[in-house]
Amino acid sequence: MTQDTHKRLVIPGPVEVRREVLEAQTAWMIGHRGAAFSDLFARLQNKLKQAFLTNSRVIVSGSSGTGLWEGASRCCIRDDHKALHLVGGAFSDRWAKISQSNGKQVDVLEVEWGQGFTPEMVAEALRNGPYDAVCVVHNETSTGVTNPLKEIAEVVHQHEETLLLVDTVSSFLGAELRVDDWGVDVALTSSQKAFGLPPGIAFAAVSDRVLERAAQIPHRGYYFDFIELDKSLQKNNTPSTPPIALMFAGDKQLDDILAEGLENRWKRHLQMRDRTIAWAEQQGLGLFAPEGFRSPTVTAVANTRNVDVEEMAKFMSGKGFTIDKGYGKVKGKTFRIAHMGDMQPEMLEEVLAGLGEFLGS
Ligand SMILES: *Cc1c(COP(=O)(O)O)cnc(C)c1O
Repeated sequence: MTQDTHKRLVIPGPVEVRREVLEAQTAWMIGHRGAAFSDLFARLQNKLKQAFLTNSRVIVSGSSGTGLWEGASRCCIRDDHKALHLVGGAFSDRWAKISQSNGKQVDVLEVEWGQGFTPEMVAEALRNGPYDAVCVVHNETSTGVTNPLKEIAEVVHQHEETLLLVDTVSSFLGAELRVDDWGVDVALTSSQKAFGLPPGIAFAAVSDRVLERAAQIPHRGYYFDFIELDKSLQKNNTPSTPPIALMFAGDKQLDDILAEGLENRWKRHLQMRDRTIAWAEQQGLGLFAPEGFRSPTVTAVANTRNVDVEEMAKFMSGKGFTIDKGYGKVKGKTFRIAHMGDMQPEMLEEVLAGLGEFLGS
């Protein structure tokens, strides 16, 4: 490995992965129909349930998070019913389009990019129901907005038939998330963001309600069918060959995360967020997300000083970092400082010092 030329990742996914976690992937391969694998799966399942704070189940998928978007939409939205998608950035927009491309009827509740959703807005939109599901992106990575999921969940729970489907790709293990306490039906995530793993494996906490709903839907596909995944899961297995090396890495990473403690991990991310906000303000830069909605895992800086983000990225590359230049239609108008995964405050200080040097302070 050419460690000397490696530029540490400060982008909002894939994130920097610790060497011990990378190395866990190099263990001898095992067959997925043998006892060693079912032990691994059971261990992982137990830790994943602790990490999602759920007693139900956490399905494991050999895909990126996008696959589980498709699975959640197909397993939860019946053909003659509709879903409400909350859209305020690139990822929430894409999920709504994926539901539609799977033939689902979708209503969209939209805010400007950079804004978040209040429970009142959701309550109002739910009057146009009934909805089979409300689809929310907890942390909109493209805009640095975290939505008030606990409060939104309370509003959704007023409607008994409505499942709450949540994309926690860049919030799981970075922002407070309590699947059972908050009554989240699907909490899906990828590996390569706040989880701090390499890409290629995805996870979703899935409620009993979801499996009951899925049983009423005839054409759910196969690869992302939650019923099929759950059947295998009960035997500590997966329907098709899983990404075993990534599961080794996840096993190791979850040990370290649970040792750190979920609450400590959430706190560390909030501290890094607050530090990043204070730094941006000192630099005379703006913040794209309004107060109260600012993400613990990624700060979208409003580029009010018209900083040349290409030049800034080149400069930071010289310092040994890969940084972000903004995403989608707000690229350049914003740039994002990721502080997710296993990033520690010391590394964030190095990043901010480098950026400060570029900005001439
Ligand atoms: C990155 C991201 C996705 C897409 O995940 P993949 O693992 O790349 O499929 C979805 N939602 C959010 C919020 C993201 O940040």
